[in-house]
Amino acid sequence: MSVHLSVVVPMYDEAEVLPLLVARLRRVLDGLDVTYEVVAVDDGSRDQTPVLLQRHRREWPQLRVVRLRANAGHQAAISAGLACARGDWVVTLDADLQDPPEVIVPMLQAARSQGVDVVYGVRTDRSSDSLFKRSTARAFYGVMRAAGARDAPDDAGDFRMMSRATVDAVNALPEAHRVLRLVVPSLGFPSASVGYVRDARAAGTSKYPLGTMLRLSVDGFTGFSLAPLRLATWFGLGGFVGALLLLAYAVAAKVAGFTVAGWTSTVVVVAAVGAVQLLCLGVLGEYVGRIYATLQGRPTYYIAHDSASLGLQDEHVPGEGPQE
Ligand code: UDP
Ligand code: MG
Repeated sequence: MSVHLSVVVPMYDEAEVLPLLVARLRRVLDGLDVTYEVVAVDDGSRDQTPVLLQRHRREWPQLRVVRLRANAGHQAAISAGLACARGDWVVTLDADLQDPPEVIVPMLQAARSQGVDVVYGVRTDRSSDSLFKRSTARAFYGVMRAAGARDAPDDAGDFRMMSRATVDAVNALPEAHRVLRLVVPSLGFPSASVGYVRDARAAGTSKYPLGTMLRLSVDGFTGFSLAPLRLATWFGLGGFVGALLLLAYAVAAKVAGFTVAGWTSTVVVVAAVGAVQLLCLGVLGEYVGRIYATLQGRPTYYIAHDSASLGLQDEHVPGEGPQE
């Protein structure tokens, strides 16, 4: 069976919002008049998410459940969904209804009428996000563009539609810790965008702690820019020039007859050089870490089961006993 549209939805402990999502998404997709599948990527949820998914699957055959063995994180969960999706078009959206499923309709229209490969959902209004989130996001995109990811559209998250060719290209990338919102624009495929208003989370709580957000920023930055490595070179050059000047000063002071007494200057110099060295080592470490991770080729996710390749009876769902 050929599938026209795949909808990839990563979810981690989203039992609270799942019934709302299923109702709203199904209404939109059934109205589209195309063959579709919904790839729900259960990112190792520990709550009732897997049980609810199996329940919904009984009356919604297009719902496909890909369960990951362990929590792999938002980006890895989307990557898993992209690897599994079979549609000619693939749209990715968050489970918490912050990305309104209704926008899929204009996205598909734009993709067809404008003949593009990628349609970005661009937030026209972010007032539902906290001020902190908005300002850090703006700073992040500003820095990323300065660092070389020039095509990254501002205010585009992970709500986007991609053609089969785009998805195949992304799947073929060996990079382990991809930040998709930067990787997809970097392919340079023809694109369009559709504006939408980002709603507040419909239910449940955010699964994105600050630490994960920082990790995403570092991955995004080191994935796209060699600037910090060059920074180390500039620091080194600057330090060298500084040392030369210091030497000249010391010689001049000696000749003029007043020697600098005391160890303060020595300590300061040693400390400064040490700091610069540590900084440069840290920068190198970030990139060496990435090279290492890529060389290891360790998958960022492991699929436990995919309902599309199993009969319903074969599935083991934790928490769902024979009384059902
Ligand atoms: N998510 C996931 N794995 C994780 C964390 C989050 O699959 O480890 C999913 C989550 O269920 C949601 C999406 O990623 O569908 C975005 O997460 P969330 O809404 O919590 O982030 P926020 O909107 O607060 O940035
Ligand atoms: Mg959210």
